[in-house]
Amino acid sequence: MESPTRQTAARPGADLAGLARRVVAIGILVGAPVIAGTWLQDRDDDPWVRWGYPPMGAVLLAFGWILLRRPQWAMRAAITILVLLEVSWGVVAWGRIREAPDATSAWVSLMPTPLLGVVVCLIVGFLFQRTRTALVHGAVYSVAITAVLAIGLSQRDGGGEYLWLAIRFGVYLGVFLVLLLVLSRAKEHVTSAVADAARADATASRMRDMAYLDELTGIANRRRLLEELGHQAGLVSSSHPVSIVYFDLDHFKQVNDSFGHDLGDRVLRVVAETAGSTVRDGDLVARLGGEEFAIVTPATDRQAAVQLAERLRLAVPRELVEAVGMRVTASFGVTELQPDEAATSVLRRVDELMYRAKAEGRDRVQSAEASGAA
Ligand code: GH3
Ligand code: MG
Ligand code: MG
Repeated sequence: MESPTRQTAARPGADLAGLARRVVAIGILVGAPVIAGTWLQDRDDDPWVRWGYPPMGAVLLAFGWILLRRPQWAMRAAITILVLLEVSWGVVAWGRIREAPDATSAWVSLMPTPLLGVVVCLIVGFLFQRTRTALVHGAVYSVAITAVLAIGLSQRDGGGEYLWLAIRFGVYLGVFLVLLLVLSRAKEHVTSAVADAARADATASRMRDMAYLDELTGIANRRRLLEELGHQAGLVSSSHPVSIVYFDLDHFKQVNDSFGHDLGDRVLRVVAETAGSTVRDGDLVARLGGEEFAIVTPATDRQAAVQLAERLRLAVPRELVEAVGMRVTASFGVTELQPDEAATSVLRRVDELMYRAKAEGRDRVQSAEASGAA
């Protein structure tokens, strides 16, 4: 049976967080061989590389694993590792400045890795924190690292010139932070716009359901049936017959009068379910109101639709006995939709056929061509 509307599901926030995780994970997987290569190359010359890089590489690989396999730990792990990296960049920078013979070689020793590391830490901070937190965090870190460079370099021979370079570096970090702030705000706006769109889509889908679904049974309602008949009338041809099966429960008023309205409602739901499980995919089952139902069956001629109606005529009382312990029958009218025929016209014809079935004793199927009885 065809569902009147399609449901849509979207989780844009989760998608963006997932994207950020994958980007950082790929960065780490690419960075790990670089760390390994640098260690192999420089470990004898540089104690920071010799002792610092192996634990750093291990931590980064573990973080990559967390991002891909344990995303629920990612936020806390990211912030912890970020702070560790920030502190270690500061320690490495300080150590290199102290070890260099003069300010010039100290400055050169900071290029490019320790200074680039600061920039990477700022970017990662914005990926994993809220914009405002990332801004405060980045500002504190930028001031701290600029102070480390300025104090360290100013104490070396010829450090005056490099003191100004360090301060200029701090200013560049500030500019960079502002750019990150703008980008991060833009990202937040996009995220909330996508979330708004998903909510609007879900609301529209709910409203479509409310407009097209019968509240009691959950199947299509009269409006949806009329729309489907209009659509199918444009597709009908001699090679593509479309039939309509229309039925009304027999003596249903007695069910309500004898056993109550609630049981009557249950009967209607069971009938809707039975019809839904009797038809093919692509058929539309609708409740027109009261105890009247209709089925639109594309690519089905009148004979095949009569067979469907007969199956349903037997199935309805059988299923009702099973579900509510009561035998209720139905009377059916079956006809083929004519090309470009109005929905009201085919419904009138099939209603007359159904009433003829009632008049002839109920619990039967009556069918006819558009022009006459069969
Ligand atoms: P017939 O065999 O001639 O169709 O007799 P009938 O009693 O089924 O016909 P009638 O049209 O007189 O009765 C239809 C009844 O359907 C009347 C009303 O109480 C009941 N009905 C209509 N809508 C609902 C509904 O939503 N729930 C329940 N429980 N009953 C409904
Ligand atoms: Mg009835
Ligand atoms: Mg009726």
